[in-house]
Amino acid sequence: MTARLLPKKDLPGFIAALAKKQEVWAPVRIQSQEAARFSRIDRPEDICLDYLNTKLPVKELFFPQREVMFTFNPGERSSAQASAQVRERVVLGVRPCDAAALELFDKVFVDESKTASPLAESKTAGPLADPYYKERRDKTTLIGLACNAPGQACFCTATDGGPHSTRGLDLLLIDLGDRFLARPVTAKGEALAKGLARAKDKDISLADELAEEARATMDFAIELKQLQKSLDKAFDHEVWHRLSLPCVNCGVCTYVCPACHCFDVTDEEYKDSGARIRTWDSCQFSLFTRHASGHNPRPDGMSRMRNRTLHKFCYFPKTQDKVLCVGCGRCITECPAGIDLRETLETLRDTLS
Ligand code: SF4
Ligand code: SF4
Repeated sequence: MTARLLPKKDLPGFIAALAKKQEVWAPVRIQSQEAARFSRIDRPEDICLDYLNTKLPVKELFFPQREVMFTFNPGERSSAQASAQVRERVVLGVRPCDAAALELFDKVFVDESKTASPLAESKTAGPLADPYYKERRDKTTLIGLACNAPGQACFCTATDGGPHSTRGLDLLLIDLGDRFLARPVTAKGEALAKGLARAKDKDISLADELAEEARATMDFAIELKQLQKSLDKAFDHEVWHRLSLPCVNCGVCTYVCPACHCFDVTDEEYKDSGARIRTWDSCQFSLFTRHASGHNPRPDGMSRMRNRTLHKFCYFPKTQDKVLCVGCGRCITECPAGIDLRETLETLRDTLS
């Protein structure tokens, strides 16, 4: 596909043109903190592109922390299915790791290999899919922002990604100083960039150099296929006790993770109305696996920390051929106990090999 050029001075006009046809979402600075978060954009000048990574990953636009699945009348058997209630939208400024994580979400929430029952009153005839997630995905075009200066905690190159990776994106913007190189990935992305001037060879070469330089700053490497094999036989190893000691099971690592997708479903009733609500959950909480009988198969912090690690680096790769981690580094920067996932993986490799 043809690479294009977007001069930075033209970015507000580019965004205004997008906003005429759909909603535009992008990172904005959270005033109270040194952080950015995805928000709906009304004024192009609110967009903040000089951030490293948003506090919460872009997953919250596809899988909100809390959402009403449907409402019901407790006295009747009828219910009204809610739609995801999103309009067509462009999300701009998505980092490559977050976009790659949406590919992992697709594996969980959309199964193209299975067909929904024709009897099901589902809006998603065709692939078996979570209708709320799929509606948001179908209505969204993703414009990424390549990382020319990865952070200290980033390790996407170890997880099948990279600072200029296009995995999961429709269009990738690469900062060349006073202009962006716009690299289309899908037909949707190509359509968005169509009106821009063609990039010159020297712009494409500069973008390639920046990608190489960015990769060169990331030195964490680990053979994850080999580690998966070792983990498969390590369920009862004592190393888990050692590794889990500092963890306070706060769940922060799962909430900020662009690949974690566990949720809880509750029915809430008030007088004559009710709603089925889905909220984020975390495998680090003791209630996550407690049965109605009171029995809990993961009763302590060690078993919960072990499960999180095995799910990401052993169980998910076994069934989906991908690790459930994109190396964004958020769990490292946000963990109150200072646990560094890279050190955890190295310890596992060195202990189990
Ligand atoms: S953020 Fe740190 S302390 Fe909290 S559950 Fe995760 S690993 Fe444990
Ligand atoms: S496990 Fe940590 S580094 Fe990996 S994607 Fe999740 S938050 Fe990012």
